[in-house]
Amino acid sequence: MASVPTQIALLTRAPGGADSTCDPDLPTAPWQFDAVPGQPLPAPTYGAGASRQDPVPADAPVQQQIPAQYRLLPADELDRRIRTARQTLGSRVTILGHAYQRDEIVQYADFVGDSFQLAQQSQQHPEAEFVVFCGVHFMAETADLLTTDDQPVILPNLAAGCSMADMADIDAVQACWEQLEAVYGTEPDADGRVPVIPVTYMNSAANLKGFCGEHGGIVCTSSNAREVLEWAFERGQRVLFFPDQHLGRNTAKAMGVDVADMPLWDPRKPRGGNSEESLRDARVVLWRGWCSVHQRFTVDQIAQARAKNPDVRVIVHPECPMEVVDAADEAGSTRYIQLAIDAAQPGEAFAVGTEINMVRRLADTRPDLTIECLDPVVCPCSTMYRIHPAYLAWVLESLVEGRVVNQVSVDPVVAGHARTAVERMLAVGA
Ligand code: SF4
Repeated sequence: MASVPTQIALLTRAPGGADSTCDPDLPTAPWQFDAVPGQPLPAPTYGAGASRQDPVPADAPVQQQIPAQYRLLPADELDRRIRTARQTLGSRVTILGHAYQRDEIVQYADFVGDSFQLAQQSQQHPEAEFVVFCGVHFMAETADLLTTDDQPVILPNLAAGCSMADMADIDAVQACWEQLEAVYGTEPDADGRVPVIPVTYMNSAANLKGFCGEHGGIVCTSSNAREVLEWAFERGQRVLFFPDQHLGRNTAKAMGVDVADMPLWDPRKPRGGNSEESLRDARVVLWRGWCSVHQRFTVDQIAQARAKNPDVRVIVHPECPMEVVDAADEAGSTRYIQLAIDAAQPGEAFAVGTEINMVRRLADTRPDLTIECLDPVVCPCSTMYRIHPAYLAWVLESLVEGRVVNQVSVDPVVAGHARTAVERMLAVGA
């Protein structure tokens, strides 16, 4: 099957085909959104795709336009140069690729996985002089926390952020924390449990991981959210979960927490838009954040998949809304979905509710199965999508020339606290 970018190019060229994608501008080259030397700095943007409607923080990184020679290179020449640079660097570089990354990038990765697996990988390669992280900004920050001080972590396109991660920032979380303390106080109960434990999803900035480390909290991924919430409930009366409301709600609900005891915290409203009473009764306070890719999946799409094939197995990611998770046959992390497909019997049919690059790759690896994306509209993670082979060629050839470009590094004080929260998670496991 053709890669997602190739399919998007074909769809958007066909009459009326643009309606089959979430944005007719998806074939636009990512450098069209970058800063051009000598011209006013453009406002940060997520580029074309699923996140187009999400507001971008004013301080989000902007990528400087890469040299013209890279922008103009045809795909086969980029491929040749990436392979040559990769071979020259040998074991000096480790390339990590996220499962949602486009095929044109994933083919060069030494390791492909979800954010938890890649965090583990970044820790397990002290022999590499450089780590090139083909994911998004928060993942590169996490890798920087876990690699040694002299291992630069490189994000090929600095504008590859995450719209969900950007929905919670340190100032808004600090303000929330102060308001919660005003309601709950700070004293532990008779069992020694503190009033509230902060839990941040891996998809968050390093300073939010640092906030959790500093306040007795922890990080989770979609693979270990349940184990992490169990850890938190042993130590706290309730949890403040950010930035993804859906992962928090779906996980806590599966553990038996009543949805009525999970108020939503809207950072733009006093007390998050909640009464003191509802906050006092809360077991989990959910931040009002979401993934623009997983929020697209609907109950109606599940009904349509079942109408097409009553035997279809519907698996969705827990970043999908609760109604979608409830209507699906199964819900699980990127790794869960991968393992379910690996273990499937020939002839089985799947409708999968997660990012399209991953779904297409799963379909390619198991041609004996029928695997389709629940969403009929082709819509990749637009932030991950900004890493085009031209940027990878640029960062690798720069390394060959002895220059480190696009290094992502976390402030040492923040890093110390963030590492505490990440290491608590790694101790809990997957
Ligand atoms: S798929 Fe969603 S949560 Fe994951 S990086 Fe993209 S925008 Fe962020």
